[in-house]
Amino acid sequence: MAENKNEKNDEKSAVEALFMDRKNASLIMSDDEIKKAYEFCEGYMDFMANYKTEREINIYAIKEAEKAGFKKFEFGDKVKPGDKIYYDNRGKSVILAVIGTEDIKNGVNLTAAHIDSPRLDLKENPLYESEEIALFKTHYYGGIKKYQWTTVPLSLHGVIFKQNGEKVVVNIGEDAGDPVFVVSDLLPHLAQDQMKRSASEIIRGEELNIIIGSLCLKGDDIKHRVKSSILQILNQKYGIVEKDLLSAELEAVPAYKPKDIGFDRSLIGAYGHDDKVCAYPELRAILDIKNPKKTAVAILTDKEETGSDGNTGLNSSYLKYFIEDIAETLGSNGRVVLSHSKCLSADVNSAYDPTFPDVFERANSSFINYGVVVTKFTGARGKAGTSDANAEFVAEIHHLFDNEGVIWQNGELGRVDLGGGGTVAMYMANLNIDTIDVGVPVLAMHAPFEMVSKLDTYMAYKAFYAFQK
Ligand code: MN
Ligand code: MN
Repeated sequence: MAENKNEKNDEKSAVEALFMDRKNASLIMSDDEIKKAYEFCEGYMDFMANYKTEREINIYAIKEAEKAGFKKFEFGDKVKPGDKIYYDNRGKSVILAVIGTEDIKNGVNLTAAHIDSPRLDLKENPLYESEEIALFKTHYYGGIKKYQWTTVPLSLHGVIFKQNGEKVVVNIGEDAGDPVFVVSDLLPHLAQDQMKRSASEIIRGEELNIIIGSLCLKGDDIKHRVKSSILQILNQKYGIVEKDLLSAELEAVPAYKPKDIGFDRSLIGAYGHDDKVCAYPELRAILDIKNPKKTAVAILTDKEETGSDGNTGLNSSYLKYFIEDIAETLGSNGRVVLSHSKCLSADVNSAYDPTFPDVFERANSSFINYGVVVTKFTGARGKAGTSDANAEFVAEIHHLFDNEGVIWQNGELGRVDLGGGGTVAMYMANLNIDTIDVGVPVLAMHAPFEMVSKLDTYMAYKAFYAFQK
């Protein structure tokens, strides 16, 4: 009898072994590792509290890189194995590299995250007064649900170049004593007509106007008293005149700091997890790498949210030129190096949201706390606009993560024919690089306050480190 029972058990486990096993990371990770993950995320939250835009993250990344012994690299500089270098692309994108001991002709290991996030950009000529309230006109940046950005405290970040070329750095709304700015919305009592608009029109692009002041300037013959008052304050504070705003890049982003979410503090709420929740682990990973065989390259790029175009986005040639240049100084050429290179396109994915199950196909969705998401393809309408990673490379990454204790899951961005989205993967793959998306699942992506899990964030670090070490 006893033997029979054992046989039955063996049979059962043999069948079970045929199934894919998905488990919550909190069931797999030791208490020690969970503690480590929470500690890692303290660093992440501190970073998120202080660096919100591509320009600010660029500065942070370079500062951290220099602390870790990285040296500034310009095209034409000679490099050798063991060198740690960074290439600063116009203060908005940065490439970090640790030159490996192996011949570079065998390719490099790249990670690519983006450091821009959806937000409200000021228009070129933003300042106006209406009914004795001063406002800034905006043009939103990236894919947003416009109604989410009203009545949210906003801070202003960016640069203004005065007509004499002098640069003024703006960061207001983040410090405890700072004022914030806000887009108004209608009171429900008077919103009957507004609520009949379609959701994409509840707040229209031209209604995303930021309130910046309301006091009148005293004196005779002053036309726009509130605008005049604001111009005076701007002149005193920044030394600028209205025309200088034409040569500015000013970005309005949520002014609040990251917060733990939940009684167990397992999630982090913050502005801009997409894609700083990949950028930060990617940066930490390359800073921690000691003596890699393959050259490790980490890209923190701009402009992903608007399609990667422009010379600070990955649809431009700046990465290609960088690889070509270091390849040449190491006695190879860019073509050969790129063709043998591998890339983790480090970008977030949409986590399965129990409140909105209809938009997901459960078996091919990613879940909060199930580890980093490995995504073979993104795109929309029949896989248009994507790099569909080759099965050979997909398997290689799965095996690597399994061997290195990286908890990972597969996941597609929502149901077929519902929408979709892209990452930088296709621009990397178009350079003849083997590329796959690996990133952190996010709830409420592109909202002013997004959510990620601490365990998943830590797994992103482990994944990038394992890939490049
Ligand atoms: Mn993204
Ligand atoms: Mn995005």
